[in-house]
Amino acid sequence: MFSLQQSVNQQVVFPSSDIELYIKREDKLHDYVSGNKYRKLKYNIEAAERSGLRTLLSFGGAYSNHISALASAGQILGLKTIGVIRGEELHAQIDGNPTLQFAKQCGMQFKFVSRSQYRLKTSASFLNDLKEEFGAFYLIPEGGTNALAVKGCEEILSEQDSHFDYICVSVGTGGTIAGIINCSKPGQQVLGFPALKGSFLHKDISKFVTKSNWKLVNDYHFGGYAKINASLVAFINRFKREYGIPLDPIYTGKMLFGVMDLINKGFFPKGSKILTIHTGGLQGIPGMNDRLVKKNLPKIII
Ligand SMILES: *Cc1c(COP(=O)(O)O)cnc(C)c1O
Repeated sequence: MFSLQQSVNQQVVFPSSDIELYIKREDKLHDYVSGNKYRKLKYNIEAAERSGLRTLLSFGGAYSNHISALASAGQILGLKTIGVIRGEELHAQIDGNPTLQFAKQCGMQFKFVSRSQYRLKTSASFLNDLKEEFGAFYLIPEGGTNALAVKGCEEILSEQDSHFDYICVSVGTGGTIAGIINCSKPGQQVLGFPALKGSFLHKDISKFVTKSNWKLVNDYHFGGYAKINASLVAFINRFKREYGIPLDPIYTGKMLFGVMDLINKGFFPKGSKILTIHTGGLQGIPGMNDRLVKKNLPKIII
């Protein structure tokens, strides 16, 4: 799609453990279209261009990594982007919201809708209204997950990753883990760490995969999507200090908190080789810090 930096496997070394832990730095793929959002957009944008559509429309919340990545990709490729954003009140708060401000600078056009309207976003009548307002567009679902997104995520693992016993990844809508499951090797176990509460994920993922070498670890969502507490912030800051690797608080921070906790509890057999996927999301940290300050919680060190 456009030029990328390399995503390398970085080892995290801790003393007195015979577990090998690596982090695949997908966050490094691109400065603004980072991590799994690049993977998920790649074949969708190709499909849009093939069908002659030069406008991409998608949905997201106020701090969405997907919206941010879509806006940037559109700017780089000269495609028009429209973001349907959850929350009418945000209209007046663009300048105080780092994600929306960035997307606006990339040229994204916004449509702010109420939470009840947002829930109807995939209905035919809502989509027709959008077509009347904006003209023809290529529709990318919320969070970017569809079959083409899963296909893009099948490129996250490479042949060099075949020797890992476990692949651990954060789960939002499940598109990323589906791609990873599809390209995992026999004998590899894929563990997903949902960033939100809910029992629908297993079914959503199953739609895109045929293998059964995976499971979801539901103990590390910290109360739900975008919910965080002081202990998660402390973990993320300690991780940055000790290993020099920044983690986002919504996805990768929770997943690695979970992996480290499972290591400490002896979940992984001795000698296990674990590959965790850093799916990006660092653009969301400033917006999260604004909210942490309001709650009198410590900030994430950038
Ligand atoms: C969107 C996102 C996820 C979740 O990906 P899904 O494909 O929706 O499961 C994980 N990590 C980061 C950083 C994300 O931005």
